[in-house]
Amino acid sequence: MEPNRNNSFGFGESVRGRLGGPGAALAPARQTYLWSSDWSSTREGPFTILAKFSVVNDLDDRELNRILFGTSTADHSVAGTHCRSLLSTAWMDGARRRAGVASRVRSASLGNLYAPWCTAIAGDENFRYCPTCLSSGFAAAAFQIDALIRCPIHGELLLASCQFCSAPTPRYALSKDAFREPLRCGSCKTSLTCGWDLRDLIVAWKAPRRCKMLVDLQRWGLEVSRAGVDWRALQEWPLGISPQERRATAFQALRQIVPLDVPKKLLRPVPLRVELTLKGAAVASADVEGEFTRGRRQIYKSIRRHYARDWGISSSSFKWLYDDELIIDGSGCILAGDPNVSTLRHGFQLWRTRFENAPRALQVGVGVRGLGLGLSLQGLTLGAELFSEPRAWGVFALTCLLADCSSANQWNSKMRKALNGVESGPSRRLVLLPLVQELADHLSPMRRAWPAGLTAVSHSRGASGAQARVILFRELWGANS
Ligand SMILES: [Zn+2]
Ligand SMILES: [Zn+2]
Repeated sequence: MEPNRNNSFGFGESVRGRLGGPGAALAPARQTYLWSSDWSSTREGPFTILAKFSVVNDLDDRELNRILFGTSTADHSVAGTHCRSLLSTAWMDGARRRAGVASRVRSASLGNLYAPWCTAIAGDENFRYCPTCLSSGFAAAAFQIDALIRCPIHGELLLASCQFCSAPTPRYALSKDAFREPLRCGSCKTSLTCGWDLRDLIVAWKAPRRCKMLVDLQRWGLEVSRAGVDWRALQEWPLGISPQERRATAFQALRQIVPLDVPKKLLRPVPLRVELTLKGAAVASADVEGEFTRGRRQIYKSIRRHYARDWGISSSSFKWLYDDELIIDGSGCILAGDPNVSTLRHGFQLWRTRFENAPRALQVGVGVRGLGLGLSLQGLTLGAELFSEPRAWGVFALTCLLADCSSANQWNSKMRKALNGVESGPSRRLVLLPLVQELADHLSPMRRAWPAGLTAVSHSRGASGAQARVILFRELWGANS
């Protein structure tokens, strides 16, 4: 630590004097530390609170941790977050000082308000700030929510980089890069708070004006965490987009479970939109046999018959998938071998292999071969544990068909682009190989039983599981424009 850091901040004895701290407050033993509850405000996040405490008392990350939390190198990291992430509170549980700053930091963190959803909708890769808010020493915990791109108070873009040199801000964690020189750019050393005159530091620390959106976000977070939402597949849904976009998508989906109004201009555009397909189907009980199985079979067969007729697919292919146009590769991906194969036919057969007991039959060897598979309509168990009535299950089956046709479309357009100008022959295989890898989760029922764009959430407002509801989300590509 630099011995003379206070002076390098231009923060000398006069400010200390103004704090009224009698000598005891700064005694060498450091039994007490300077802090005033006036320096933090409602809905302020933990990062700036810690930064202020750090600046006033001249403490770096290790000292902050020792004094406030007293945790050793923690292995509390969840879902790729920092081990001392300011999103989560797990590592703070051993806080030395329950009262005061440590407790303030803990209660201000998003994990306290939104548990267990904070890491699903917010990231700690970088500290995000509104320049105007930060000039008065404020950054809301909600600024870490990826779906928000503008400050709800000032409408300014939230930044994750230095305004002068564009270097990224430090991690949103009690880390060395963030707290060795708090609120300064790690690269050019400029104060992130721009007009913040450190001599008048404490005078500048003001609460921002009251903002309804921040109040609503906080209330919503509590409601979501109490809503009994069970969404096990969330961390891996949707596929193929950046973590920021994924978390923004999860936020949009959670907003459909627990409503929250957010002006569109505040929201990050995501490459896909989530559509609520089904709401209100009660979660199935353990008994999924008998009557229910018969109902599923009837519904499935009528969907299959209807779309086969509509899309010109011969009913003779119900027995065998093989029709010279579709192939299956070593990882179980069902592929159209040529861009001229109908995407509806491709999607249709992909869909059937999910339902018609195909994964067991797909004992494929190495290399590519035709789909010479016999499919049998037995249990139709996919999704059966989630939907208690055949009608709801039918909506699920139909949604799977639409999602698989969308995957077939993606395959087709990517293949068309990749094969443009490539002569037929072995080089085609080489060109297509990376595409197969990219879309394998969409095209292989062996790798992923459900279509990759689909997820189901169960949700219960009451304590009793009997009131649980299943909500099915489908991603719609390109629907944002
Ligand atoms: Zn602001
Ligand atoms: Zn900089």
